[in-house]
Amino acid sequence: MTDTDCLFCGIVSGEINADVIYENDQVIAFRDINPQAPTHVLVIPRKHIATVNELADVDRDIAGALHLAARDIAKQEGIAEDGFRTVMNCNSAAGQTVFHIHLHVLGGREMGWPPG
Ligand code: AMP
Ligand code: ZN
Repeated sequence: MTDTDCLFCGIVSGEINADVIYENDQVIAFRDINPQAPTHVLVIPRKHIATVNELADVDRDIAGALHLAARDIAKQEGIAEDGFRTVMNCNSAAGQTVFHIHLHVLGGREMGWPPG
């Protein structure tokens, strides 16, 4: 399922360019256009899911695939051992701006806690 008005569906279909660094049958990952850390990658499902609130029980494999991809990407980017952060924002209070779920993978610098 794709949404014709969705930016990240456009990246999945190839209509919109992105710096893709990882993909498999369920997910695709690309560098964030406005990186907040030396490594900042977004992992998205090929399927259009607007927010975590819309994740269905049948999306269990997709939810897992996002995190397994993050594991592989952290290794690929050389940030697995030092440490990295995965974040998925949901709706406005969390600062979600693109309504196709995406797991941020951030690393290459020290991270503060709690997040802002
Ligand atoms: P969020 O605020 O959690 O919805 O994150 C959306 C992220 O998408 C932001 O970090 C943006 O910098 C990033 N972004 C927006 N447009 C693009 C694009 N065309 N290519 C790559 N990253 C993008
Ligand atoms: Zn989409």
